[in-house]
Amino acid sequence: MRRDVFTEDHELFRAQVRRFVEKEIAPKVSEWNARGMSDRESWRRAGAEGLLGVCAPTEYGGAGADFLYAAIVNEEMARVRAHGMMISLHSDICLPYLLAYGTDDQKRRWVPGAVSGEVLLGVAMTEPGAGSDLAGISTTARRDGDSYVLNGAKTFISNGQIGDLFIVVTKTDPNAQPPHAGVSLVLVEGNTAGFVRGKRLHKLGLRGQDTSELFFEDCRVPAGNLLGREGQGFKMLMQQLQQERLVIGVTAVASCRRALEDTVAYVKDRRAFGQPIAAFQNTQFTLAELATQVEVGQAFVDALLAAHVRGDDIVTEVSMAKWWTTDLQKRLTSDCVQLHGGYGFMLETPIAEDYADAAVQSIYAGTNEIMKVIIARRMGLGG
Ligand SMILES: Cc1cc2nc3c(=O)[nH]c(=O)nc-3n(C[C@H](O)[C@H](O)[C@H](O)COP(=O)(O)OP(=O)(O)OC[C@H]3O[C@@H](n4cnc5c(N)ncnc54)[C@H](O)[C@@H]3O)c2cc1C
Repeated sequence: MRRDVFTEDHELFRAQVRRFVEKEIAPKVSEWNARGMSDRESWRRAGAEGLLGVCAPTEYGGAGADFLYAAIVNEEMARVRAHGMMISLHSDICLPYLLAYGTDDQKRRWVPGAVSGEVLLGVAMTEPGAGSDLAGISTTARRDGDSYVLNGAKTFISNGQIGDLFIVVTKTDPNAQPPHAGVSLVLVEGNTAGFVRGKRLHKLGLRGQDTSELFFEDCRVPAGNLLGREGQGFKMLMQQLQQERLVIGVTAVASCRRALEDTVAYVKDRRAFGQPIAAFQNTQFTLAELATQVEVGQAFVDALLAAHVRGDDIVTEVSMAKWWTTDLQKRLTSDCVQLHGGYGFMLETPIAEDYADAAVQSIYAGTNEIMKVIIARRMGLGG
């Protein structure tokens, strides 16, 4: 179905992105998956091509474009399964914090590099003892003269090895009541003394992405690295989550489309009992149902994209989209593996990788259970 949300200019941009991604990114994906991380040169090339920070203002090197352009980049990256290079995390999840809350100094210092691909970004919220319950973190940032001194441990941090600048969620007031009132965001550069990169974690999926532990051991950063104001960290995180969850919905549907397309091609080709397996009614019904659900998901995501660009408050709806589209992605990839038979279980078959990659979508960026907690709360249910 034609997607009305995009203009002709958006589609021209998509054609440019697709050409670049097919030529420069797709050939790298299996290498990244084997190595467990992407490479800096590809980030620089993506930056030179204008694929990073497309929404950043022109004065900092961005294109000042609307979020639909960012969505296009994310869809095209998902289409070639380039999950190892998480442009979405860098451009659409981390960079907005700098743009929204950074001082002029902070923006001048880091945004142009983020747009060119020289400064790769990450956000460090999760700790070994606290994920969903973010106010329960224990990493501290103690003010000491003109510095903050950070101590604590983070885990599951995307871009943990390759990242240059991390937005670190800390407690500047560990005794604050309620606890979230003590949360502050501090920017930490990767070469700071006391900032220690732990091991790259071995994962079920997203094998090309360097999810890592990070440690802060008397890690001293200038007081000017505070992002926004002390005690406002939790509020800033909540304000940015709308876009983060929408991004997941965008990539989930794009990944579903690719998995479905590949499976449709496979069932037309593969034969059993003297006919293509596409001729079996079970195959047809399974794929017809999945195709229907992908269109429903796409229509919802597109409506949310339009609303987000308008500036509407769609926290409830993006929470719905996040859980529903990622749930669909998990079911769809599971069914597509089944339709591939034994080949679906082999890692050299892309659908096997799709199945493994889908698993995390319901976990990060707020688990799907947390999405339902938010929806229920906004419906006036519970305490
Ligand atoms: C590949 C990958 C990349 C990641 N990248 C990053 C990153 O870049 N930065 C970062 O900070 N974090 C990152 N994360 C961490 C991710 O955001 C957390 O794993 C996630 O928020 C869940 O936290 P947790 O793992 O502590 O699970 P827990 O919070 O311990 O949850 C365990 C289970 O309990 C359920 N649960 C918890 N609370 C409730 C509740 N109130 N009601 C109902 N059920 C509940 C959860 O839904 C889940 O099913 C990443 C994780 C992965 C796997």
